[in-house]
Amino acid sequence: PQIFALKNCNLSTATEQSVRHSDPLKVPNLIGGSFVNSQSSDFIDVINPATQQVVSQLPLTKHEEFKAAVSAAKQAFPSWRNTPITTRQRVMLKLQELIRRDMDKLAMNITTEQGKTLKDAQGDVFRGLEVVEHASGMASLQMGEFASNVSHGIDTYSIREPLGVCAGICPFNFPAMIPLWMFPVAVTCGNTFVLKPSEKDPGASMMLAELAMEAGLPNGVLNIVHGTNDIVNAICDDEDIKAISFVGSNTAGMHIYSRASAKGKRVQSNMGAKNHGIVMPDANIDATLNALVAAGFGAAGQRCMALSTVIFVGDATQWENELVKRAKNLKVNAGVEPDADLGPVISKQAKERVCRLIQSGVESGAKLLLDGRDIVVPGYEQGNFVGPTILSGVTEDMECYKEEIFGPVLICMQADSLEEAINISNRNKYGNGAAIFTSSGVAARKFQTDIEAGQVGINVPIPVPLPFFSFTGSKASFAGDLNFYGKAGVNFYTQIKTVTQQWKDLPGGSGVSLAMPTSQ
Ligand code: NAD
Repeated sequence: PQIFALKNCNLSTATEQSVRHSDPLKVPNLIGGSFVNSQSSDFIDVINPATQQVVSQLPLTKHEEFKAAVSAAKQAFPSWRNTPITTRQRVMLKLQELIRRDMDKLAMNITTEQGKTLKDAQGDVFRGLEVVEHASGMASLQMGEFASNVSHGIDTYSIREPLGVCAGICPFNFPAMIPLWMFPVAVTCGNTFVLKPSEKDPGASMMLAELAMEAGLPNGVLNIVHGTNDIVNAICDDEDIKAISFVGSNTAGMHIYSRASAKGKRVQSNMGAKNHGIVMPDANIDATLNALVAAGFGAAGQRCMALSTVIFVGDATQWENELVKRAKNLKVNAGVEPDADLGPVISKQAKERVCRLIQSGVESGAKLLLDGRDIVVPGYEQGNFVGPTILSGVTEDMECYKEEIFGPVLICMQADSLEEAINISNRNKYGNGAAIFTSSGVAARKFQTDIEAGQVGINVPIPVPLPFFSFTGSKASFAGDLNFYGKAGVNFYTQIKTVTQQWKDLPGGSGVSLAMPTSQ
């Protein structure tokens, strides 16, 4: 039976329902256009991180169910790839309208399952929506090239063709934006898709799939399967899947990159980060402090572009004192509460890990200027909350510096010159993003040139490019050749066919030549 009444997005109210019923909602797979409950006997609880209530239960999808999803995608491919590109774009045009219509429901689901504040959840949806908007006019990026008369009577042209069945594997931290980085671009290019949402917060993916079908996406073009490592490995190994988009941690990302590449698949893998912000003495004080607080503690630090490390060039004391004052004013609360600035971290294990890394910093000599570990949020005593935490005097050898903390912890360092600050940042293995705060064009230009990070902010703390550019993390933050969304995203989801045609009156009697044809 279909326990999971997706119509009208009941997932957003699943918390209340699961309290009323002892049997929580089961999250179905989406196979060939039908939401079907898994026959698996293994389920994982999807937990509201502010309350510990079970929102729903997610199946560890059985192998034959996974094969059925891939087979549905494979079957849908020939007719979808031959659907006019304008029709494919129009499905996206409709989808963006429907996402706007259901923005509040999507945001509520994200807050319930992931924990971020409602306003932040709206931003999560909106940044994904912008990819759908871009996909609505993406035909021009799928155009090939043409060279006339490459030899007498011969022209050569290239065509960008879809790959076939593609797959996406998602992290927990942006339950709407990241699925929307993937399937809208893939399907608008004419591919069909198998999506594996994060096992921690699958609800937004389910709602988005339902909206995509309402927008006119034919059955089988988008399929969803749930699970963890086993299903990811099955995706890597499957002969019918041609490309994988992954976003998540380095452990999973590098495993997927090597396993799937060994099977001949294309892989784009966006991974972890440790983004540095360099603050010059001439930076605008108020704007810089606000930027640091927002980018360090927003989403409880669970953004791959969070500015988690700040390097003050020159004396840090004044800056740090002011930072502490502003961070103390932030309200930690459940994301549904209107006054919340930051919500909980995703799980009890995540909280333990964050607290352990803070402690390791203290033990290796960092100064704990603000400690958020013992926070209790009235009414949400069971939540996985960590308050804003600031460690100063951190050095490169400390574990809290080397590891991605992925919590509301701002690490403060000091350097005597811009050069030294850039060198610290460049020695870090990650290269997702970096920012400078300064009123000097000369310093900004040096930073832009010398910094080894893929996304650079100049007085912009979280420089995530809009969808007409691409998400260009580098170094250990990315594996692959073609980035997510924008022109690179279209190139990832298409392959080039080159056609050489000859239309001329063939000269008679010139005989057979076995030499390599040349155009002299
Ligand atoms: P995660 O790697 O734990 O999980 C991501 C996905 O991989 C999930 O679907 C999960 O089921 C699967 N997975 C996890 N371990 C696996 C394994 N051993 N084998 C096979 N599959 C596995 O990541 P997360 O905790 O959900 O997300 C947080 C991480 O994602 C952070 O490191 C963050 O920086 C990163 N992230 C990066 C970007 C980016 O664009 N660079 C964006 C968002 C998040």
